[in-house]
Amino acid sequence: MEAARAEVSRLEREAAAATCAEIGHSWKSIGGCNAACENIDCGCSVPVHECEVCGDCDYGQNAEADEVKRTCTEQMMLDEPDYENRACDVCGAKTDDEAGKLCKSYQLPSGDYACNGSPEDESYPDGRLRFLSEVGIAGINAWVDEMVAAHEKTATDSPTETE
Ligand SMILES: [Zn+2]
Ligand SMILES: [Zn+2]
Ligand SMILES: [Zn+2]
Repeated sequence: MEAARAEVSRLEREAAAATCAEIGHSWKSIGGCNAACENIDCGCSVPVHECEVCGDCDYGQNAEADEVKRTCTEQMMLDEPDYENRACDVCGAKTDDEAGKLCKSYQLPSGDYACNGSPEDESYPDGRLRFLSEVGIAGINAWVDEMVAAHEKTATDSPTETE
């Protein structure tokens, strides 16, 4: 009797899996989870779905999650104070598109255009060129100074080190 019941439920599960394989899962929302965005501080959440037929779970990996992550990454790029949108010093282009038509542009493997006025390779999601801002440059300079200072300190800390 137990064996028969087990066999029935096995067949039911197989039938359900076959139905899902053929027509796709019948997802229903069972709550939410962290979106696991690139920006770990963002707190975005996405719906988690469970299939009503076979009981499979998508663990929050769905089209809605992709869209949440894409929007979050866009916002993160737009909010980054180290970068700003301005016209290229060399050709005056303000967007990838303009850089593609104006002087000194070259096409990146991604298909985007950049120019020798050296915008960041990655433009904003809307195609505007991205350059380091004064804040960003100051940050890099401070980091370089720190590295140099640390190097000099190491050099003076170990005066016995000779060839
Ligand atoms: Zn299913
Ligand atoms: Zn997010
Ligand atoms: Zn340019």
